[in-house]
Amino acid sequence: MEDCIFCKIIKKEIPVDMVYEDKDIMAFLDINPSNKGHTLVMPKKHSKNLLENNEEDLKRLVLAIKKIGNAVMKVTNAEGMNILSNINPIAGQVVFHTHVHITPRYKDDGISFKIQRKAYNEGESKELASKIKSLLK
Ligand code: 5GP
Ligand code: ZN
Repeated sequence: MEDCIFCKIIKKEIPVDMVYEDKDIMAFLDINPSNKGHTLVMPKKHSKNLLENNEEDLKRLVLAIKKIGNAVMKVTNAEGMNILSNINPIAGQVVFHTHVHITPRYKDDGISFKIQRKAYNEGESKELASKIKSLLK
């Protein structure tokens, strides 16, 4: 896609610190890492977000994440990692080309996912689960 910065990176029009490439997948270090080794993994084929990908695309992506995640973990000596994908601006998506963040984690690294939890009203979770379930049949 013409205006997509990640498509430009994939076409090698913008340089990056690449860590992995095959015919379908590319992975490189985030320019603005939340921890050193923060890596972005993406399908080369343009799509707006993870939910737009087909089964084959997703299989390849998840297998690459596993491989790259293990390598990043080893090289950075991380104690753990967060693997996440933001969908739409409300969830923090800034670049609209499917990508998954692999972020190495350490004790007291200053990254916080502390969130205020919400409570369900009586019967609400059952109803919600049942509505979602019915779409998945
Ligand atoms: P999002 O918020 O869309 O999930 O994440 C986009 C990520 O892409 C951000 O963490 C940002 O730092 C990274 N990013 C944006 N532009 C570039 C770039 O030109 N090169 C690299 N290596 N990373 C980028
Ligand atoms: Zn793109």
